[in-house]
Amino acid sequence: MITLKEAQDICWSEEYRPNTEILPLNEVLNRILAEDVYSDVNMPPFHKAAVDGFACRKSDLQHDLLVLGEVAAGSLAETKLQPKSCFRIMTGAPVPDGCDVVIMLEHTQVLPNGRIRFMKEKSSQNICFLGEDVLVSDLLLSAGTLLRSQDIGVLASAGKSTVSVYQSIRVGIIATGNELVEPHCLPNPSQIRNSNGPMIEALAQSLGAKAINLGIAPDQEAPLETIIERSLRENHLTILSGGVSVGDYDLVPIVLKKLQVKTHFHSVAVQPGKPSFFGKRGSSLVFGLPGNPVSSFVQFNLLVKNLIRKLAGQNNLSNETIRIPLSYDYQRRNAAREKWEPAQLNENGEIKALNYHGSGHLHALSFAKVLFQVPAGVASLRKGELVQALIL
Ligand code: AMP
Ligand code: MG
Repeated sequence: MITLKEAQDICWSEEYRPNTEILPLNEVLNRILAEDVYSDVNMPPFHKAAVDGFACRKSDLQHDLLVLGEVAAGSLAETKLQPKSCFRIMTGAPVPDGCDVVIMLEHTQVLPNGRIRFMKEKSSQNICFLGEDVLVSDLLLSAGTLLRSQDIGVLASAGKSTVSVYQSIRVGIIATGNELVEPHCLPNPSQIRNSNGPMIEALAQSLGAKAINLGIAPDQEAPLETIIERSLRENHLTILSGGVSVGDYDLVPIVLKKLQVKTHFHSVAVQPGKPSFFGKRGSSLVFGLPGNPVSSFVQFNLLVKNLIRKLAGQNNLSNETIRIPLSYDYQRRNAAREKWEPAQLNENGEIKALNYHGSGHLHALSFAKVLFQVPAGVASLRKGELVQALIL
């Protein structure tokens, strides 16, 4: 049995360089950028009014100012600034040459003779200056970046309507167990629905992978062997759930051995979900997750998530945990193994206990906002103590 840290080091050192493809922006959410993207414009592209009001010279503010004209967003001033004059200007419009302040409409009084008067002592500048955010040729995003919605906005601002991303890695998902039926079936008294298959499929999809749900395999060697062999051939990564432990019907390790999958580890000292298999045949990787749905979910988050990101071409995999205080005293009976507990967050951003009955209690995860770590050897934690937490 190895520690979680050791298991993570093994999984996350896998190397794979996917091919690239060019896609439009509306298809690249959660994909990994395969090119460095530079700006072709300054941002802002001109000195830009940050508020609605009047653009003028700061040194003229003590005088009544003649309004020379109007500058709306998308247009330019038609005349030149004169002493003791100003332009009516709208948010987003280019500030006319010579103006060094935009006074807010709310701070002015309109006079009858086509003039306005500034009614305050001082004004902020209210100008976003040319290039203050980004300059032409600045590196905006580098290859290996996971594209989130804000990044897609950045790509659009730089004129990238299509972009090069790594091709999605293929992930085959197989649920194992004689007791399983597909979600559309009504289980008989000894059966349960396959919730892991769709859950793992969704987890893989949320990482930009192409997830292929291969359904349910029974606890029998021959059909298990057939479906695993197929997935090994067709996919970069195969994720199995269930049958990975040491029960009489836990055939996954036996079948994987038969299929010449080399074991990297088979047991990780973490709760929930000690039996967790990771292995490889050629360049095809295999993960065996425990069948209990919470164990599957936790192990996926702790181990598989970053493995998929790494294979998908993402750079700078960060340890995504942050330190959050507990809002209650925590205790557990058996402190031998490191444990990851699902929990909520309260309105102060502290960890709040969840009604959670153990690793079969999938529904509890619907209310969970974090998984937090209880280190090996630690049986109790006090209210206010900081714990490592993974945001879900
Ligand atoms: P196993 O790891 O095969 O021993 O399964 C552990 C527990 O998880 C058992 O109670 C199984 O019925 C349950 N389980 C296994 N696979 C799934 C699945 N795909 N969906 C929901 N529960 C499952
Ligand atoms: Mg089973």
